[in-house]
Amino acid sequence: MRKKIVAANWKMNMTQGEAARFVESFLPDIDEINDVDVVIIPPFTAIAKVSEALGRAHNIKVGAQNMYWEKSGAFTGEISAPLLRDLFVHYVVLGHSERRTLFGETDEMVNRKVRAALEAKLRPIVCVGETLDQRDKGNWEKILTIQLRGSLAGLKPKELQDTVIAYEPVWAIGTGRNATPQQAQEAHAFIRKILREMSDDTTADRVRIQYGGSVKPENARELMSQPDIDGALVGGASLDPRSFAQIVKAARQE
Ligand code: PEP
Repeated sequence: MRKKIVAANWKMNMTQGEAARFVESFLPDIDEINDVDVVIIPPFTAIAKVSEALGRAHNIKVGAQNMYWEKSGAFTGEISAPLLRDLFVHYVVLGHSERRTLFGETDEMVNRKVRAALEAKLRPIVCVGETLDQRDKGNWEKILTIQLRGSLAGLKPKELQDTVIAYEPVWAIGTGRNATPQQAQEAHAFIRKILREMSDDTTADRVRIQYGGSVKPENARELMSQPDIDGALVGGASLDPRSFAQIVKAARQE
């Protein structure tokens, strides 16, 4: 049984004060929940504040939205895996579609980052997903295959099992238009099939695949009740502690 994982991608939002206030109002709402992995992914500038506000009592983990593959050195403006570890970061989002389209990240770059993250004992959340044009042309399976094979190239089964995949159809991100549960399930099952081809049955069955793209309290439960949907990567709706808490609760298997 795969444990659900629900993550809040705050993108370029939240000052330190706003982040601390979010945690303060979010924690009481999810106090009893330990059957879902919860990850908060602030901008770099609020990571330390979120860790501090969470304290040690909670099993909520902190993530980062990106990193560079080198460990240290003359790479002005970049952040490395060891620097993230130093902030008690456990997860790192890699290959988000905004990084791919706005900042020119390729599958090869994502792959270098994934390997560097795993080497530093960070768990990558690797994003894949097709554009509307690619879906309309019937190319989504081909695009997902290229992204998965490129971004995850060379990973050993154990490394794959430590990796989370986020299926995020680009046409559903920040648009208010989510994939239907059936469309999402079909894509997740396809992703698991590719993972099976890349590794073995046990590994493919253990990898968690999140859905991302306009997840809200209203659609979260139905999406996450699909057999191959193991959680959600949430953008807009994760900026409000109440709605993010509702999405976390929707992930529970009851
Ligand atoms: C995201 O950016 O990962 C995302 C899924 O955003 P939203 O929930 O706002 O569509």
